[in-house]
Amino acid sequence: MYILNLEERATCPTACRHYRSCYGNHMQWLQRMEVGPDLMWKLPREVALLSIDHPNFVVRLHGMGDFFSCEYVALWRVLLERHPGLHVFGYTARTDDAIADSLRALARDIGWSRFAMRVSNGPFPLRSTVTIESVRQKPVGALVCPEQVGKTESCSTCALCWQTERRIAFLQH
Ligand code: SF4
Repeated sequence: MYILNLEERATCPTACRHYRSCYGNHMQWLQRMEVGPDLMWKLPREVALLSIDHPNFVVRLHGMGDFFSCEYVALWRVLLERHPGLHVFGYTARTDDAIADSLRALARDIGWSRFAMRVSNGPFPLRSTVTIESVRQKPVGALVCPEQVGKTESCSTCALCWQTERRIAFLQH
């Protein structure tokens, strides 16, 4: 599994519930990739190399940051169509702009099994996440992230985010 981190806030919609309280506030050492032409040039080459090494692999979009343009979403469409072994999972706070429309179209065309993209703090019980301050606040039907409560080591040993459509509850950092 590979993780792509982008700059928080600069790539995120201001409507994000955690725009100011982003968990990235506590991760000053995490490397964020700078968005722009260099990233758009580099990504296809890096994904092509990964697909040579791995018949199947997962990319988390994003550990930090969000989809920042329709062109960027279109690039992931090309990569998913080009590399059958590529699987993407992640979270977005985009819900009501052209980028959100592009993401919905991509999810519809590619399918959940290869593009498991959840809406952060989405107001629906499937394909969404919710942030809570205590496990006792877990909404009915949601699953608390097992890594956060010491029940698994990492996303690689968990896989819930792309194996179930049920809402995932994250403990607020
Ligand atoms: S629920 Fe599992 S896959 Fe999702 S973020 Fe937590 S550890 Fe990772």
